Amino acid sequence: MNVLVINAGSSSLKYQLMDPATGNVTAKGLCERIGLDGRLTHKVPATGKKVEKDIPMPTHKEAIEAVMSILVDPADGVIKSVDEIDAVGHRVLHGGDKFVESCIIDEACKQAIRDCIPLGPLHNPANLMGIEACEKAMPGKPQVAVFDTAFHMTMPPKAYRYAIPTKYYTEDHLRRYGFHGTSHRYVSLRAAELLGRDPAELKVVSCHLGNGSSLAAIDGGRCVDTSMGLTPLAGLPMGTRAGDMDVGVVEFIANKYDMTISEAVNLLNKESGMLGLSGVSSDFRDLEQAAEKENHRATVALKIFEYRVRKMIAEYAAAMGGVDVVVFTAGVGENAPETRAHILHGLEFMGITCDPEKNNCRGKEQIISRDGAPVIVMVVPTNEELMIAQDTMELVLDQE
Ligand code: AMP
Repeated sequence: MNVLVINAGSSSLKYQLMDPATGNVTAKGLCERIGLDGRLTHKVPATGKKVEKDIPMPTHKEAIEAVMSILVDPADGVIKSVDEIDAVGHRVLHGGDKFVESCIIDEACKQAIRDCIPLGPLHNPANLMGIEACEKAMPGKPQVAVFDTAFHMTMPPKAYRYAIPTKYYTEDHLRRYGFHGTSHRYVSLRAAELLGRDPAELKVVSCHLGNGSSLAAIDGGRCVDTSMGLTPLAGLPMGTRAGDMDVGVVEFIANKYDMTISEAVNLLNKESGMLGLSGVSSDFRDLEQAAEKENHRATVALKIFEYRVRKMIAEYAAAMGGVDVVVFTAGVGENAPETRAHILHGLEFMGITCDPEKNNCRGKEQIISRDGAPVIVMVVPTNEELMIAQDTMELVLDQE
């Protein structure tokens, strides 16, 4: 089966054409600068071929058309006709409390994604544009929506409720939703598979550490807690996001610097986190380099990040009454051995260890805890696209 996986952002659209049964990716790429001018980067992993083209993309419709056209291009394409695509799987950011799992896209599903726009005002409209552009380009082709929030819908109320007056929950659905759900689901399942264990018998702390970061506590294959909230601003400090803090800070900044609430929250989303702390960059590679050159602010930023992740691993172990596996994934989790070592240092009291030699790895599946340690710590590169393609295949086959 060939599944086209689409991840549409406000001005960009990533795609992968893959076989969900094998995980083999036949083509992948990125449309950028949608609404401005338009640029397509297309790669064919089997041959290493890379094509870059400027193509006008006033809207997502033209971007999808450009993707369709390059996929069937006689020189650069990988299929003869669009008919060879069996289904399309879309990453959708916010499913609110309406979606506990992935679903076939029909009018009701699209309306529900629309209803969740107030919860995901930046992403859900872009996701819908991607869906509608595919409907136009490939009429009748089965499409599936895979939600970043769905995996977290198994959280109990004690984990997802905010301690604010109940009417804001009952009337406005204000609660913790959590994100990166597809990634947490993939790495926790893959970790169990690699260990030859049943996910139902494992307590896993999944650490998705990238530009955006979140942790999830996964007990018996079900998410019981996660660190992002109503929006991705909550939890750990991230590339440019502040993470958890006293909301009184928002009022103080807004009053003193004559900002609206939106402006102050924008500051917490775009100018804070590692960037705000270090004044150097939001990118962990830049921070590591600056810290090596004894840049004090970069060192402090990294220390704050590591401390907050370390505390949260222990918190989630407490939430589950124990932990069997800690998994690291995403850009930092997969590729930054030193940051992993600093995070883990100090958790030995709960059986969590780090073997320096095994930990000296980047971007590959690897156990990094000491042999025989009570808790297994491992690196599992994430693969959200594969999860989206597999959900798409299952739902489409079920429907047939
Ligand atoms: P992601 O959002 O998952 O793409 O992760 C992006 C983050 O991963 C950026 O902050 C990168 O600096 C970081 N990253 C990628 N490769 C490395 C590396 N080799 N060492 C440290 N950080 C890295």
